[in-house]
Amino acid sequence: MVCSTFDLFKIGVGPSSSHTMGPMTAACRFVEALREKNLLERVERVECDLYGSLALTGKGHATDRAVLLGLAGERPDRIDPDAAERLVFAIRETGRLKLGGSHAIAFDEARDLRFNQREKLPHHSNGMRFTATTADGESESAVYYSVGGGAVVDESDVARNAPPEGGWDMPFPFSSGEQLLAIAGREELAIADIARANERAGLSDEEIDIRLDAIDAAMAACIDRGIGQTGILPGGLNVKRRAPGLYRLLTERAERALQDPLTVIDWVNLWALAVNEENAAGGKVVTAPTNGAAGIVPAVLRYYQRFTPRATQNGTRVFLLTAAAIGSLFKENASISGAEVGCQGEVGVACSMAAAGLTAALGGTPGQVENAAEIGMEHNLGLTCDPVGGLVQVPCIERNAVGAVKAIEASRLALVGDGSHRVSLDQVIETMRKTGLDMNERYKETSLGGLAVNVVEC
Ligand code: SF4
Repeated sequence: MVCSTFDLFKIGVGPSSSHTMGPMTAACRFVEALREKNLLERVERVECDLYGSLALTGKGHATDRAVLLGLAGERPDRIDPDAAERLVFAIRETGRLKLGGSHAIAFDEARDLRFNQREKLPHHSNGMRFTATTADGESESAVYYSVGGGAVVDESDVARNAPPEGGWDMPFPFSSGEQLLAIAGREELAIADIARANERAGLSDEEIDIRLDAIDAAMAACIDRGIGQTGILPGGLNVKRRAPGLYRLLTERAERALQDPLTVIDWVNLWALAVNEENAAGGKVVTAPTNGAAGIVPAVLRYYQRFTPRATQNGTRVFLLTAAAIGSLFKENASISGAEVGCQGEVGVACSMAAAGLTAALGGTPGQVENAAEIGMEHNLGLTCDPVGGLVQVPCIERNAVGAVKAIEASRLALVGDGSHRVSLDQVIETMRKTGLDMNERYKETSLGGLAVNVVEC
């Protein structure tokens, strides 16, 4: 099942797609279900139980804040981060929230929002249960799973084994790199053309371009906002924003660039840092494919736009469509959730997507694109998720900068070849999946291992 470009690239808020956007969407969906059942106005109390990775790292990933906002009817794609801050403050100050934005109830956060750190729900590490009770004792409960990239499934989806999104009639369905290359060869189409043809099943070309340009604009705005912010990131780790200082260094002493041909790497680092610092601060970002890894695709895309000759708006669209086609293969055949397979599913996948997108935008053949995607993941295999303090800051922010540079390297390696190579993308995706299965739970977004236990918080 191919998932849509617009399911992989979602505009939302930080710091985490699975721990912030997913729970916010789930809470919002639960309230909507209450409304549809004509229960909303009679609800007196709502409780939320978080399990597994959501309970273990939810505080650092702002899951509590996301649940409050979702219950109040806020959705990640429409939220204004500044207004959201005020809303959360008001809920906490008054101990009351308006369910779905309309029905006021008491909400005692310490009592009604529980982090069940020793329990895990059966389907996925990111499980949550919402329960609503009316004044006359009637109760309604639902379980949701945040399965990565902001996507949410409920128990009925799990029972049907249904995908969370997508599922439209497309002319070129594919579920492996091999199939994708076969379609490209048979139809004489680029990977971006195949992705566009599939999107055309639900959207006109004009609508596709409007959406792609909106993603490009949101990524660019995130970079620019991140460059303009200073200070310490929230959460107590005392991590300083580095993007503004690096930007000053690059622009105030531009003559240094003439002496150092690797200055381009500093710019790529800057753009990735800017996005991930914004993400860590709860700002507006685009999942690519997740929030934790949201800096890699924008940084490499801007590298394409600023540092490669003949970059065009159409090239940007080709970049995004190709990157999404590759991301969709990982989503279907392995995972894009750090809680399931470690950081290889987030930063590794983003690196693979960006490498493929850049290669396509630079005119690479489908074989070279597949090669770039494979290299992008091969050298991220085994990457663990061990965020210090449960915050999406260390190692996440820097890891995006390194991942972006690695994606450019993967693309360059692929572009000097002819597309033939020893390890296929499908083999590396399967290896990533199996490595994730073998990975100790401590390294899957629990903050119970790795840097999270070896770095002392201060
Ligand atoms: S270590 Fe990687 S997977 Fe884990 S939170 Fe950070 S970016 Fe996400």
